[in-house]
Amino acid sequence: MCKILNLEEMAGLLKKAQKLVLVSHISPDGDTLGSALALARALRSLGKEVILNVDDDLPDVYRFLPGIDDFRRFDASESVPADLLVIIDASSADRAGNAMQVVKAAGVLNIDHHKTNTRFADYLYLDAAAAATAEIIYSLIQALGVRFDLDMATCVYEGLYTDTGSFKYSNTTSHTMGTAGKLIDMGVDPSFISDNMEVKDRSQIEMLGKVLETMTFLKDGRIAYVEIPLELYDHNVDTDSFISFPRYIRGVEIAVLFKQVEADLTRVSFRSKTADVAKIALGFQGGGHQKAAGCSIHAPLAQAEEIVLKVVEAALE
Ligand code: AMP
Ligand code: MN
Ligand code: MN
Repeated sequence: MCKILNLEEMAGLLKKAQKLVLVSHISPDGDTLGSALALARALRSLGKEVILNVDDDLPDVYRFLPGIDDFRRFDASESVPADLLVIIDASSADRAGNAMQVVKAAGVLNIDHHKTNTRFADYLYLDAAAAATAEIIYSLIQALGVRFDLDMATCVYEGLYTDTGSFKYSNTTSHTMGTAGKLIDMGVDPSFISDNMEVKDRSQIEMLGKVLETMTFLKDGRIAYVEIPLELYDHNVDTDSFISFPRYIRGVEIAVLFKQVEADLTRVSFRSKTADVAKIALGFQGGGHQKAAGCSIHAPLAQAEEIVLKVVEAALE
């Protein structure tokens, strides 16, 4: 059974716990990392013992986030006791990696903003209208009665920045902008975040050149997709921004990025102008939002493309 909490109940649950494990989702992004880092700082300021966990490599682009070196990856054979396990910005249990197995906690709390949330935890705080989980964390830190410091503010701003595509996607509300404004008042420098997030490695641009050559159009240009085959895939190269190239082509309604990360595992990212791509992703046990979603297909690249593109084409019929 999953108990739905309001903000005060969630703050109460966190205050009751002394030892907490905060988990960012696999394939980590600025929202899950920034949210976890800000909450960890707030809870530590209340004297709590906090472990930060992510069951994945951390992309270099997030190295500038204050406290990022605190993240630990658990070994599957470990057993970590805790009062509360907190899973942040993940809509389903598999996105938490091995934390649900490794951590022996009295309860599991999930803080999320994906409308595809599967209600897998004991306690859930879900706000599908929030642009980012970081927007929830901003209110939560206040509900905990903690005074923001610059590091907390920077990490929350990072979450907002990432999930809104630097404050330009349709999920950006006046509340999101208002929150960003308050964070700037606390001392956050927007150019510090954007300079760190926009900077590219040469290897990234070289890979982008090769990936753009794979661009293929379907349905009279209403669908565009690009691919990263295993031979090209390098987990050290950040490819998160690549999907914006097919996405911003005139006439494209759905953009798809296929990334073969193992011989039999292909990660898929969807972006749309109008169609509900969360529904498509959910059909493949993935999830996300109406206009940005993703899933993993346990198949090689060509097979994954065949299965997924059939459904994408049908969505435009
Ligand atoms: P991405 O394309 O990886 O930037 O993800 C876009 C959105 O879809 C984000 O909100 C992700 O949290 C969500 N998402 C991506 N992959 C998955 C997945 N395998 N399962 C559930 N949600 C996902
Ligand atoms: Mn995320
Ligand atoms: Mn998010």
